[in-house]
Amino acid sequence: MQELVAAALQERGYTVERQPIDQALIGRHPAFSPATIGYDNSWNVIGLHKPTSAHGRSLILNAHVDIVPTGAQERWQYPPFEPTRRGEWLYGRGSGDMKAGLSAAIFALDAIRAAGLELTAPVQIHSVVEEEITGNGAAMALAGGYVADAVLIPEPTDEKLVRANSGVIKFAIAVHGTPAHPREVSGGVSAVQAAMQLLSHLRRLEDRWNEERTAQPFFDEVENPAALTIGTISGGEWIASVPSCCRFEGRIGFYPGDDPQERVKEFEAFVAKAAAEDPLVQRCPEPIVEWVGVTHAGYILPPGSDAEALLAEAHASANSPDSPPLQAYVMACYLDAAVYSVHAGIPALVYGPVAENIHAINERVSLPSLRRVTKAIALFAAGWCGVRPAIKKPPASRV
Ligand SMILES: [Zn+2]
Repeated sequence: MQELVAAALQERGYTVERQPIDQALIGRHPAFSPATIGYDNSWNVIGLHKPTSAHGRSLILNAHVDIVPTGAQERWQYPPFEPTRRGEWLYGRGSGDMKAGLSAAIFALDAIRAAGLELTAPVQIHSVVEEEITGNGAAMALAGGYVADAVLIPEPTDEKLVRANSGVIKFAIAVHGTPAHPREVSGGVSAVQAAMQLLSHLRRLEDRWNEERTAQPFFDEVENPAALTIGTISGGEWIASVPSCCRFEGRIGFYPGDDPQERVKEFEAFVAKAAAEDPLVQRCPEPIVEWVGVTHAGYILPPGSDAEALLAEAHASANSPDSPPLQAYVMACYLDAAVYSVHAGIPALVYGPVAENIHAINERVSLPSLRRVTKAIALFAAGWCGVRPAIKKPPASRV
């Protein structure tokens, strides 16, 4: 994927840099989160446009190239890795989240050149890895010094702007029981049953964190900002044995301004207490909590920024005159925008096309929406960075 993006950028005359993820920064740089895989085969691609005499405001267009698993492929209407166009929709895993956004970023800048114009300020395209689990791709771009006066990320947001997002921590919990033969069940402790108990207790932590929303700007009307999600579970060793081990992984969210390390401590303390008080779980060794993905703060895009005003104008111009103005909303999940916003104070605009079923079956993106968003990004980039007539002949348009 990254080879393809690098080639597409090179072909267009960008200076292209391949940026490896430096694992040594994990634990040392606050933008990085714990990783569970090596990054030998994953790297960022950065495309740079540097005008000869730069003025205006610089811009980063960021998109992630990683995706989540498809789920049961036989349940997809069309094979998830064979992009299929039906009417106004394009189906496929990653179509909405977020190959559409990545292509919108590249084609928006193509459109500016096709109009015979050149941006007068530096522009960077960050094609990053690892958004879906750790955010370490965006963290690496930032740690590598790739900063700008604004960042725009065309995640699938239904053509709305993200006003705020939540901080997120991703955990794994391993519960160990006492294995036994079915003839002496009473001598065993089922790790699977103990894990189910612990899971039900975690719902109380979710409730508690959700109750805090009333004191949080922008989050008071979000239905489930904590959104405890158990994504995987595995346990047991044999159909006719009391299981000795069960492990589950999940994520839980909190509010902008919260220190993720404080939330980690609160989570660990809750698990230890719930385990000690539960009649079944207390018969097991203390559950082991590991941190296996993003551990990051959320952010707020304060209303009233120049960047937002310009995007609202671009959005209005790209839409029909009777369309409603740009709306802003809260997204209760991790976004790479948080890396740029929290660690570098860069105004972060997350704004992208209409998509359905992301992280689900039959993911699809709306092509008319993608076209509108591409126009809006082009207008925003032109307004933010400034334009002048291009000196060189524009390359053949691929839009
Ligand atoms: Zn995404």
